[in-house]
Amino acid sequence: MPDPRPASPAPGPAALLPSAFDALPRVAEAAASKRLAVFLDYDGTLTPIAATPELAVLGDHTREVVRRLAAVVSVAVVSGRDLADLVERVALPGIAYAGSHGLEVQHADGARSTVPGASAYLDALARAGDLLEARLREVPGARVERKRFALAAHFRLTPDVRVDEVRAAVAAVAGAVRGLRITGGKRVLELRPDLDWHKGRAVRALADALSSHAPSLPPYPVYLGDDVTDEDAFREVASDGLGVVVGEPQQTAARAHMESVVEVVRWLEALTERIEAPSA
Ligand SMILES: [Mg+2]
Repeated sequence: MPDPRPASPAPGPAALLPSAFDALPRVAEAAASKRLAVFLDYDGTLTPIAATPELAVLGDHTREVVRRLAAVVSVAVVSGRDLADLVERVALPGIAYAGSHGLEVQHADGARSTVPGASAYLDALARAGDLLEARLREVPGARVERKRFALAAHFRLTPDVRVDEVRAAVAAVAGAVRGLRITGGKRVLELRPDLDWHKGRAVRALADALSSHAPSLPPYPVYLGDDVTDEDAFREVASDGLGVVVGEPQQTAARAHMESVVEVVRWLEALTERIEAPSA
């Protein structure tokens, strides 16, 4: 099937992008004239990056800000985490969740679905997990996280001089077990099912699902994220929405940027206030 997405915008450095605060009036206006949906990555976007994934806890204030936003506009949290883990951490009813980079989805009504074909990779992931654990046992600070539809090799606590051993181990396992591919993030490498699916396709599928409520209005998907896997989503929303990168990567397809998680929370609050009181 041909890729229906338009040609990708040329990526560039985030430091040259306008602040997402400049785009606030445009985004708030879309709440009235379009099907605005706000997609939020979790780690590094709603919570600061922590030393281990377990420590990335959503703050009470941030949860309240997202809850208020979700009362006036469609909201989804999109993450590489397992769906169950993500739902437990965010703990807000009535919003959508996409876990495993979109392979598993929980819609706002609570209904869950898995991308067809994903379950066929569970055996390969289990075998790869055994191999990877054996290979990384001797590397200090390296840890294998077995997620439902991915294996993560975390090396945030690994000395820099040993990081190449983690990369080599992941590459060796990817070569030994068919059907998996390597993706990267901040001090993590992942082995995932080699399916043509990513956060961008998950965002489009969720945005399309919203159209059943207001089919006559054009979509306006806004995506906030901070990492390499978010670039697929930035490319996806470039034609009809807005991608906002958190931080300052050298190459990004986002069209606006924010400095930090603190700014994300302020931006979401400001957006909510503008939508609640459009004339203010
Ligand atoms: Mg992230």
